[in-house]
Amino acid sequence: MGRWRSVLALLLLAAATAACAVPGTGRPPADAATLAVFDVGQALAVGLVTPDGHALLYDAGNSREDAEAVILPFFRAHGIARLDYLVLSHPDQDHVGGMPAILEAIDVGTFVDPVLPSTNRAYLETLRLVRARRIAAVRAERGRTLALGAAVRATVLWPERPFLTEPDGTISDNDNSVVLRIEHGAVRILVPGDLEARGEVALVAREDGALRAAILVVGHHGSRTSSSEAFLEAVRPAVAIVSAGRNNPYGHPHPETLQRFRTFGAQVYRTDVDGTILVRSDGTSWVLVTGQGRS
Ligand SMILES: [Zn+2]
Repeated sequence: MGRWRSVLALLLLAAATAACAVPGTGRPPADAATLAVFDVGQALAVGLVTPDGHALLYDAGNSREDAEAVILPFFRAHGIARLDYLVLSHPDQDHVGGMPAILEAIDVGTFVDPVLPSTNRAYLETLRLVRARRIAAVRAERGRTLALGAAVRATVLWPERPFLTEPDGTISDNDNSVVLRIEHGAVRILVPGDLEARGEVALVAREDGALRAAILVVGHHGSRTSSSEAFLEAVRPAVAIVSAGRNNPYGHPHPETLQRFRTFGAQVYRTDVDGTILVRSDGTSWVLVTGQGRS
């Protein structure tokens, strides 16, 4: 397993699991589920491969290059020829930009989408390809579960209808992002797209305890307007993984947000610093691997 170059941490769910922890050798556990938070710059793409060979991609980065140079090689390396699900959090360029290239390159079982109004060209091309390839398309809405084999369960926690609106009445893209909860045994991962504080508060009011997750793929690239105290109180992550571009013009992740993670005791990893970040779970504990660069 020489490709696992730099194991930074072996993290345990709780002290109670310490006795059966995977030894900290850097060797990923056999029969693991793998989560990848890809280094796609100022954008988001999250991959998942289950122990029994099911696969999901949540968002696809900003561009064709993100899909071809970063995302697809990961699935190929894991022997994945078909994605069970392609999930779009919301139709902004930094999430949908690479999707047409994904659809052209790999079979997809089901496309999952909140169906937000958008004129983004990559989104319209994505919809065209989904139709042309007769891919099943389902609406992402709270309560929908995504079947991913025997070991892993994914549940859509957000959005719900009616969509949240801005003060001027327009539908908010970010606050209606798909929030996905992934469960592998006792290991929980929460992926909230670009959800911001208003969406977080609405979600916490409905789900509360169901949001608890050891691993949080941080909302909206670590912006100041996401990862509110109320949300972090509900999630209580041990690890917070930020997808942001090197020297991005938005200042993501924001120092105040990083401080909030420190306050809640979450260890922060960032794609702009750590490259593609992998989490390998055996259903009880997990290993986090950084430094997976572009191939
Ligand atoms: Zn974004």
